[in-house]
Order: sequence, then structure tokens, then C-alpha cells
Amino acid sequence: MTSKKNYDVIIMGAGSTGSSIAFHLAKKGYTNVLVIDRSCAGCGQTSRSSALIRLHYTNDVIRDMAVYSWRFWKERFQDETGCEYSIFTKTGIGFAGPEEGREAMEYVVKDLKRRNIDVELYDAEEFKKTVFKHIDTEGISVVAWEPESGYGDPNTIVQSFLGYARKEGVEVLEYTPIRSLIKEDNRIVGIKTDKGIFKADYYIDALGVWANDLLKPIGAELPIEIGLEEVLFLRNPDNKDVVPPGWADLSLGFYSRPEGSSYTLVGGLGAEFRDIPPEPGEYSSPPVDVVVKRSEPYTKRFPGMTDASPHSVWIGFFDITPDWQPIIGFDHRVENLIHMVGLSGHGFKLAPAYGDVVSDIVIYGEAKNFNVSGFTLERFTKEESRHSAYKYGIIG
Ligand SMILES: Cc1cc2nc3c(=O)[nH]c(=O)nc-3n(C[C@H](O)[C@H](O)[C@H](O)COP(=O)(O)OP(=O)(O)OC[C@H]3O[C@@H](n4cnc5c(N)ncnc54)[C@H](O)[C@@H]3O)c2cc1C
Repeated sequence: MTSKKNYDVIIMGAGSTGSSIAFHLAKKGYTNVLVIDRSCAGCGQTSRSSALIRLHYTNDVIRDMAVYSWRFWKERFQDETGCEYSIFTKTGIGFAGPEEGREAMEYVVKDLKRRNIDVELYDAEEFKKTVFKHIDTEGISVVAWEPESGYGDPNTIVQSFLGYARKEGVEVLEYTPIRSLIKEDNRIVGIKTDKGIFKADYYIDALGVWANDLLKPIGAELPIEIGLEEVLFLRNPDNKDVVPPGWADLSLGFYSRPEGSSYTLVGGLGAEFRDIPPEPGEYSSPPVDVVVKRSEPYTKRFPGMTDASPHSVWIGFFDITPDWQPIIGFDHRVENLIHMVGLSGHGFKLAPAYGDVVSDIVIYGEAKNFNVSGFTLERFTKEESRHSAYKYGIIG
């Protein structure tokens, strides 16, 4: 346990976001840092992430961050953290939509090609002929195909980021809930815990769905709604040829990906709003309504998966902003509070960029590599929206 009480930075929350910020600060030589979590590191919503790592974002700045992060996961993560194995599994990911989505898809694919990334735009029938034949293309006319995308391993990334940060001198305090924030005038002057009060120059909000529990009492509530996401795990049928690659279906409103060689997971592109505590969890006997809700559209698109059997259901929660994009940067009401929150169900893949951005904000007062000026909390006071070009904000 730490004996210190004063730091340059306190990172509140040790999920994919907080751990990446700690790693990036440490890489940049900034180590008088405390990371604090009420539970074990990575045991928040990160633990239930479907962890798709992909590039397809219609927002230019988020796409810049997706490209940076995609390359980081694939090319830099192992070397830079010292992790013994790759956390990336390639599955290929297709984004399929109706004709209305074509213009946005063309725009994104053209931009990714310009960056020398292997991506392709197919008419749906052509995709069926040349990439994956076990598909029913009803309702889709275009597929943006990312053959080099896939998914990551959330637990390993959190442990590796924090492992590196610890080695450099960053302190990590788990199982220590922050009970309250102490605010004087317009600054936070400490966090109250059962192990005492800890103080810092800067406080970073990487609290995900729990942010408002601490922010509301100090009058700094955020426009975040908490949405429930249920992910169905299916045991793959014996015929592995029919198992589809990663998929996001803008027509039928679901996403899916293989999980290793034996399972497939299927989630929804929206979220549900129910008044229950946002604790991530699992049903080992999958509820029938969830099985039906997830498998109906999925097997409609991929009829070969009708023989897949339900295995389990994970539940997790999204911290959703009005435009389904993150809140990044200083809070205009509390001068030493920096937000990296409101990740709206698509924040795992972007963790490397988020860590780079927030560490620069701490060190230089602004992000050096990405223009995140449009993602401050203040945008909501001006009713500016950064919503995806698609109806599903989670696609970005
Ligand atoms: C089911 C599901 C599927 C998803 N799929 C994808 C995907 O495919 N691709 C993708 O990019 N993203 C995906 N996401 C989103 C992504 O996983 C999240 O945006 C991201 O992992 C959130 O990380 P975080 O660190 O911000 O939050 P969390 O992991 O929730 O971390 C917040 C931390 O704060 C701690 N905390 C809270 N209150 C306190 C307190 N009072 N004191 C101390 N600590 C506290 C918590 O214990 C927690 O560890 C998915 C999310 C879910 C739920």
C-alpha cells in the first residue's frame, strides 16, 4: 500500500482508460501518479467488453484516434509494455448497411486507403461471392471490409499497462473506493477514501459509468446516461466454414465476432435503459428473451449459424453521452479536473489514443497529436453534436 498522500496526478478508475493514461504518463516520464480503483483493476465495464478493434469511424478525429490505436495494439503494444504475447486476434470485420449508408462508407474507406490500410468497399453480392459465402444479403447493399481488424484481450491490456506504469514508479491502489471528492472554490483539493485523503494537482476522471456518483455531489454532473448491453455467447456449430468474420450490421442492428475457434459473441448496436445498478455480470444459463433478441437477426444474416447453441450471456453498461462520443479534457467548471469519460460503448479500442491525449493534456495543457477541441464537455452547452453519420452512434 502507498504511504504517500500527495501526487502530481490522481487517475480515478483503473479500466482500459485509466490504465492507458497511467501507461502513457509513465512513458512520458511522469510518474508521481496514483491510480485508484474501488475494485480490482480492469474489473469494471472493461471486463465485459467485446473488445472489437476496428477502424471504421465516420468522425474524422475519432477515426484518426482509431487508426493510431489500431496500429498501437498490433505493432507497439507488446514491445512497449513488455507483454509476453500479442493481445490482438485477427478476424476481419465487415460493416454492412443499406444503400443510404453508401456515401459515408465510401468516404471512410477512401480515407483509410489513403493511409495505406488494407480495406475494401464491396457491393453486398460481390462480398458474398469473394469474401464470405454463408450470408443472406437481404437488406444490405454495401459492405466496408477490414480484413486486418479483430479483437483484443481487455484483462491483459489493463494488467500490462499498469505493470509497465508500476515499474516506472506509478502507484496503483485497488479495492479502495473513493467515497467523495473534496472541492474548494472551483478546484478539487483531495479525494476521500477509507485509507485517508489523497491529494494531487490534477484529477483524472476515468470512472466510466460511475462518474456521476462522485461528480454530482460536487455540482459537476455530466450529461451521461447509463445503457445496458447484453452479449450472447454461442457455441459454434461443427461446420466451422459457416462461422462468420467480425461483423457490424447497420440494417439489422447487431454486431458479432468469433471468440477463439469455439464460440461467437453477438451484441446489439443500441443500448437499453433500465433502472438497475451498472454492475457487469454474467448469466451462465442464458435468459430466453436475450437468446431470441440476439440470435434472430444474427441467424437471419448468417443462416449457417442456426445450429449454434446458446452458451451464456454477459451484461455490461455503457456511459452514453448525447452524441455517443467521449467527453475529453478539462471541465470548464472545475479547473483541475480532466475527463476521459462518456465513451458510449466504443472506448476499448481507442484506449491508446485516449491515453496519449490525456497524458499530453496533463503535461502540456493540450493534446499534441489529435485535435480533440471539439470533444470537451462544453460542446453540450452549445448543443453541438459529433454523432456518427449512421443512426447507430456506437459505430462513431
Ligand atoms: C458489453 C460491452 C461491450 C463492449 N464492446 C466494445 C467493443 O467491441 N469495442 C470497443 O472499443 N469498446 C467496447 N465497449 C466499450 C468499452 O469496453 C468501454 O468503453 C471501456 O472499456 C470503458 O473503460 P473505462 O476504463 O472507461 O471504464 P471501466 O472499465 O468501467 O473503468 C472504470 C473504473 O472506475 C472504477 N470506479 C468507479 N467508481 C469508483 C470509485 N468511487 N472509486 C474508485 N474507483 C471507482 C471502477 O471500479 C472501474 O474499474 C463495450 C462495453 C461493454 C459494456
